[in-house]
Amino acid sequence: MGANSDVLQLSRKLIKCRSVTPKNDGAIEIVEKELLRAGFECFRVDRGGICNLFARWGEKNHKKTFGFNGHTDVVPEGDVFSWSCDPFGGVIKNGLLYGRGAADMKTAVAAFVVAAKEVSEEIFFDGALVIMLTGDEEADATDGTVAILDWMKANDESMSVCLVGEPTCSEAMGDTIKIGRRGSLSAVITLQGVQGHSAYPERALNPLPIVAKLVSRITDHELDQGTDYFDPSTLTITSIDTGNTATNVIPQSCEVMLNIRFNDAHSSGSLLNWLESEAQKIENESRVKVSIKAKVSGESFITKPGELSNLALSAIYNIIGAEAKLSTSGGTSDARFVREHCPVVEFGLLGNTLHQVDEHVEVEHVDQLKIIYKSMLINYLVE
Ligand SMILES: [Zn+2]
Repeated sequence: MGANSDVLQLSRKLIKCRSVTPKNDGAIEIVEKELLRAGFECFRVDRGGICNLFARWGEKNHKKTFGFNGHTDVVPEGDVFSWSCDPFGGVIKNGLLYGRGAADMKTAVAAFVVAAKEVSEEIFFDGALVIMLTGDEEADATDGTVAILDWMKANDESMSVCLVGEPTCSEAMGDTIKIGRRGSLSAVITLQGVQGHSAYPERALNPLPIVAKLVSRITDHELDQGTDYFDPSTLTITSIDTGNTATNVIPQSCEVMLNIRFNDAHSSGSLLNWLESEAQKIENESRVKVSIKAKVSGESFITKPGELSNLALSAIYNIIGAEAKLSTSGGTSDARFVREHCPVVEFGLLGNTLHQVDEHVEVEHVDQLKIIYKSMLINYLVE
């Protein structure tokens, strides 16, 4: 345990790779080597310049296959001089492990790799272990977990359950498991009027008062009051812009940007229909032309409380005595892709410093995480 445990050593090795998304810098190879040595079958599933790894121990397509999903890419370190130590140094100070990716999520990758390795070596069971690792989570996520899932389909590989090791805890180690995520829809609404001089407003068609009306209507609208496992959906206006720099010019057009985080009462399609009907109403009332460009980052999803979340709950309770709550808060993660394949939950370390300067985790928690993962594996695979 502590600073010299296998999981700590592997975490530090991974942090030392400058795998700022979408770069790999040897990170995937470190894990691949480790798993090959432990007798896992490893397949590189690189796509579009992204390094990905699929590794399996045990029979292909076994009906009891526990999968882990994680990423080795990290967000940029930001201003290196604001850090109290080298963001790629794997530095341990006062019981804390520092570095970009310490929380999100090189330590969790190390924890599940070592847990899977130890279970394969120490325990007899009828089942299989899968590790899916990508270098494309923080950026576009188009050639990462999706590429591995595509490859699995083509090669008749499967998982019966999957755990994503994102840092899910908010205040204390073991306080939160994520069983679903909200969906995310971004839209740019453009209102096209007629430009003119503010001294002659009758010759122009100012889109701004109409924008004000539209924005107040869509923000006043209650999307829902929350559902069984989700908080109410939210709509946030993130920009209203004409690009106008002159006080005496009526702008020709105005762009409204917004982001909707939605629960399982909606789909991106139903929300887009609603936005389009509001746009149509405004068009009918005024003479502006309204157009909407939307981008969907993910639909909402839920793995209903049951076998998999119970497995995580009892492992966390048995190892560290924490009673985790089941949550659906936060942004999107690769679980949104995995959920198409099998039941998925997310559990990892504290995420309170992720993407920040001086990102760090407690050394003790890294070891605990490995033991929790190991306990989940044993309870699932051994009858
Ligand atoms: Zn992450």
